[in-house]
Amino acid sequence: MTRNIYLYNTLTKEKELFKPILENHVGMYVCGPTVYGNPHLGHARPAITFDVVFRYLKHSEYKVRYVRNITDAGHLENDSDDGEDKIIKKARLEELEPMEIVQYYTLSYHKAIDKLNCISPSIEPRATGHIIEQIEMVKKIIDRGFAYEVNGSVYLDVNKYNKEFSYGILSGRNLEETLEGTRILDKQSEKKNNVDFAIWKKASEEHIMKWPSPWGYGFPGWHMECSAMSEKYLGKNFDIHGGGMDLVFPHHEAEITQSNACNNCNPANYWMHNNMITIDGKKMGKSLGNFITLEEFFTGNHPKIEEPYPPMTIRFFILQAHYRSTLDFSNTALQAAAKGFKKLMSAMTSLQKLEASDVSTYNVDNLKKKCYSAMDDDFNTPILIAHLFDGVKIINSVKDKKEKLTSNDLEKLRKIFNIFVNEILGFNDNKEDKNNDLSNELIELILELRKNAKNNQDFDSADLIRDKLEVLGIDIKDNKDGSSWDLK
Ligand code: ZN
Repeated sequence: MTRNIYLYNTLTKEKELFKPILENHVGMYVCGPTVYGNPHLGHARPAITFDVVFRYLKHSEYKVRYVRNITDAGHLENDSDDGEDKIIKKARLEELEPMEIVQYYTLSYHKAIDKLNCISPSIEPRATGHIIEQIEMVKKIIDRGFAYEVNGSVYLDVNKYNKEFSYGILSGRNLEETLEGTRILDKQSEKKNNVDFAIWKKASEEHIMKWPSPWGYGFPGWHMECSAMSEKYLGKNFDIHGGGMDLVFPHHEAEITQSNACNNCNPANYWMHNNMITIDGKKMGKSLGNFITLEEFFTGNHPKIEEPYPPMTIRFFILQAHYRSTLDFSNTALQAAAKGFKKLMSAMTSLQKLEASDVSTYNVDNLKKKCYSAMDDDFNTPILIAHLFDGVKIINSVKDKKEKLTSNDLEKLRKIFNIFVNEILGFNDNKEDKNNDLSNELIELILELRKNAKNNQDFDSADLIRDKLEVLGIDIKDNKDGSSWDLK
């Protein structure tokens, strides 16, 4: 049975009961990174926020198709219609092919996000892989009369759109207000109106990433990729569209405008936005000198970082705040998160070893109910974590024999922690490489068997094990205390 989950919809500014279009199925689209730099704390927040949404919906027995894109073309500087493509600029500065930049930073994004234990999305489409779909959509918008071509570029006619639909429904900026800010139309501009935005841009001679289109060589406007790819994989109208709050305007407003102009429908029923992370109260930015990559957090290799913060500390720090609240980084806040996380993990270890009593002095079912209520209330992870810490108190009290739990309740408590801590919040014990740990344990096991063989005077087996391990590149050294091993 699926749960009654309430989520805050940026579109209606209200918490609404979540009702998917198809029973038991959820389509979720989240705007992913523009891959032209190493991932930083600002990338971690949407990845972790929607990872928890994905995990909780799956736990609630929904079949979820989670699409998160990679922007590898068309995102111009300052999110505007002019300026250089962010990826081409980086490629020019580093004297590389744009696709080398895309490959390098996509891998670096995946590596960091994997360490944060985010489950991979179901589909991860790239803008450059969907040029045909974007051109088709632009054609349709022109055919329906909501866009015009000038000199090889195509612009969405916002004034015309506004006569039939309401422009600005997501950001709350109406057309007049938006025009206020852009009253003087640049004389150079080929747009009919400053509020119009490019859905296809003509490429100059030197522009590297360009494709043939009915309007000549060019590239899609940044907002176009998400409209085209969400329609391709989730349909014209799907359930949840997510992203950072900084994307509400212009990006998501433009997506709604494009989909209405093309398909006569709003692409998503629920729009979810995570708030931003600030550093010492300020926005993060390269020019502000407070730009810290995730790898620098993990290694501690940055002047603003006092010690390395493992990926799970970062995950805990982010989930300790509600996704719609602002979150300010400081060393003190991260040190507190590290301490809290350690306390939670050590309680998880104690929980496995607790001894059962014949009576219970604590209501485990009540804790379970509270944990689910927190998640059903717009994925309220800080409240969930507070309830789990009530559980931590009980675990420690049972350990100190101050509270009692029956074996049945102990089993229930283990299940609650397993579901909420591991499965839903996605915490693990900071062991980055589980395969490596397993290999080490297996070698130790083999050495123990070899010791047994020697004790039983079975020297043939002992030598066979040593020789075979040597072939695998593992050096065994026998000494009077037993044997040790090392990789050659
Ligand atoms: Zn997007």
